[in-house]
Amino acid sequence: MTISVVSPAADVTAAVPELAAAIDPGRVADLITQLLVELGEDPTREGLLGTPERVAAWWSDFLSPDGAATATCFTESKLSGQLVAVGGMSVWSLCEHHMLPMHLQVTAGYVPDGEVVGLSKFGRAAQHFAGRLQVQERFTRQFAEHLAGVIGREDVAVAVRGLHLCMSMRGVRMEEARTTTLQAGGRFGTDPVLSQQFLTVTAGLWGTP
Ligand SMILES: [Zn+2]
Repeated sequence: MTISVVSPAADVTAAVPELAAAIDPGRVADLITQLLVELGEDPTREGLLGTPERVAAWWSDFLSPDGAATATCFTESKLSGQLVAVGGMSVWSLCEHHMLPMHLQVTAGYVPDGEVVGLSKFGRAAQHFAGRLQVQERFTRQFAEHLAGVIGREDVAVAVRGLHLCMSMRGVRMEEARTTTLQAGGRFGTDPVLSQQFLTVTAGLWGTP
C-alpha cells in the first residue's frame, strides 16, 4: 500500500483527555519512605538507599507517557472497504483495584475511507491510555473511542488480551489466566464478515493459548 503524505491541512488532530495534576516526585518519595516503615522495613538500610526516589521517578514516568495527543491521517483517496489491523502492540498498565501490573496485548482494526491513520500513532495511543491506573475494559473502550475520533467514524474494533498479576500472584494465583476484551463499533458490529476477519487476524497474532 502506498501512503501519500499530504499537506498539513489534511492532518487530523484528536484530543486525548489529559490526566490530573503532575505528581511531585519528592513528595512521593517521602510517602514511599513512610510506606517502607509501615511495612516493617528500615529505609536507611543499605539496600533501600535511593529506593524511594527510584520508585517516585518510576511513577512519574509511568503517569507521563509521551505524546499520543495527536494522530495524523494521510489521504489515500482510492482506499475504502479494506480492513486494516494493527497488532503486536503490548503495553504495561496498572490495575486500579490492586495497583499491580497488567500486561495488555492490543490489536486495533479500522476500515479506511479515503485516508489512513499513521501507524506509529496506534502504539503511542496504547501507551497513553495504559499509563495510568486502569481496568482492561476501560482501556479497551478508551482506545476504541480515541481511534474512532481519529478516523471520524465508528468503524473501529479493538481487541485486548490481558495478563493480570492480581490474578497471577495473589488471590486465585492462576498464572495462565488471560482476559480478553473486544470493543467493536460501526461496521465491525453489523458486518459479520468484517468482524470475523478481524477476529481471525487477532487470533492469529495472539496464537495460543
Ligand atoms: Zn486487579
